[in-house]
Amino acid sequence: MYYFAKVKWNSRLSGARLEAYREKKMRRLLGHAVRHSPFYRDLYRGIDVSSCKLEDLPITKKEMLYRNFDDVVTDKRLRLEQIERELQGEGDVLGFYLGRYKLYKTSGSTGKPVVFAYDKSATLYGIACNIIRSTLKWKTMGFYFRMAFRILVRKPYCIATIVTTGRYNATVSNVSALPNWVLRNVVLPVTMPVAEMVETLNASQPIVLVGYSAIMEVLAYEQLGGNLHIRPKELKCGGEPLSLKGRQVINRAFGDCMMEVYSTTESLALASECVAHKGMHIHEDAVILEVVDDKGKPVPEGTFGSKVLLTNLLNRVEPIIRYEISDMISTVRDDACPCGLKFRKIPRVEGRTMDIVWMKRKDGSLEPLHPFCFYDFLEEIQELKRYQVLQTSEKSIVLYLVPLVPGQDDRLKSIVARELLAMLEQKRLYGEIEYTLEVVHDIPRDKASLKFKPVVALADVVRAP
Ligand SMILES: [Zn+2]
Repeated sequence: MYYFAKVKWNSRLSGARLEAYREKKMRRLLGHAVRHSPFYRDLYRGIDVSSCKLEDLPITKKEMLYRNFDDVVTDKRLRLEQIERELQGEGDVLGFYLGRYKLYKTSGSTGKPVVFAYDKSATLYGIACNIIRSTLKWKTMGFYFRMAFRILVRKPYCIATIVTTGRYNATVSNVSALPNWVLRNVVLPVTMPVAEMVETLNASQPIVLVGYSAIMEVLAYEQLGGNLHIRPKELKCGGEPLSLKGRQVINRAFGDCMMEVYSTTESLALASECVAHKGMHIHEDAVILEVVDDKGKPVPEGTFGSKVLLTNLLNRVEPIIRYEISDMISTVRDDACPCGLKFRKIPRVEGRTMDIVWMKRKDGSLEPLHPFCFYDFLEEIQELKRYQVLQTSEKSIVLYLVPLVPGQDDRLKSIVARELLAMLEQKRLYGEIEYTLEVVHDIPRDKASLKFKPVVALADVVRAP
């Protein structure tokens, strides 16, 4: 409750007061990092962090923080080796590590999974930001009375979340932070067949639905086609940018209740859409986002940069300062937003688009495979250095596998085949489609973005609305 009040209070900040607040938070963070993190002490040697400009500090990257994890964190009890062992085991996903820290693993879309540690206050403030700042008009006093009534008669509202099966995924552990008697949580793994998802949602009638944008679009078609009958008051999409067409379909199916959320594992709260539905407000009291070109130079407001530098003002245990994220965004000022917030906005996020792989069963029914269906098991295979899933027809896929150590091709193939078949079985695609596993030396980069695209779908195998 304290964090909700604090977020609400800080939402009034604007202009010079907001700048002063951010400056104070930033200086405190820099001072703390230099005092307690050997990594930052070394990195900022010779720089006076009490007076320097943020832009003068070196850029940090994912591999740097991961490789030096033990030196980056400000609590010496956190040791990467121990944490990774813990994360592989059956530890308590929802609890706080050492009673104080939340541990998150990044999803596989941008490379090997990486661990991040958060302190309690940063976690709770981040969750509160995402909930409060996207509050729709339906959360009126009347709604809270109805909610209280439903709690009393033990029929609480339901919130449904579509997630990867990966444990320590930020969404999984955050939605479960609320007790079940207040809001019933229904968690649907992304590997669940769509027909089953529709059935579960029809039965649970969620008031809020949280999920990846591409899956929401699939569900919107189900609703328009008459299979799905739900009336959520709020849809929260995130994890990947939503296309304009996708948004139109979702709005047609569920009404104007879509809220896009922009967050990463490195910062639980980056930006979220408000009632005006015109872009996402950056949580400027929680993060500093610098939009820069590929040389790291700032770009003018309103133009797209080639990457973003993130400074997380909240998290003290693993300081994230000028950390590179490869998303392409632009920021704009909108002081007259009807929601009252004066924080800058991100009109839309480019990059991280994911292909849904539509497969056809022998009976003609279609089943979508979200890239997370593949990431979930492929990222966990230690023997695998890199991979690519390529759809070759509506009934076949090829998996290109780059081994970590050459010479054990058959072993690698059998591990991948076992996991792939388990996933296909879950999706009721076992025996319905063909797959080929091919061990290769390398996977070519995408010509346009120069990035590795781990899942490539065939464009013409899409379901018509
Ligand atoms: Zn607004």
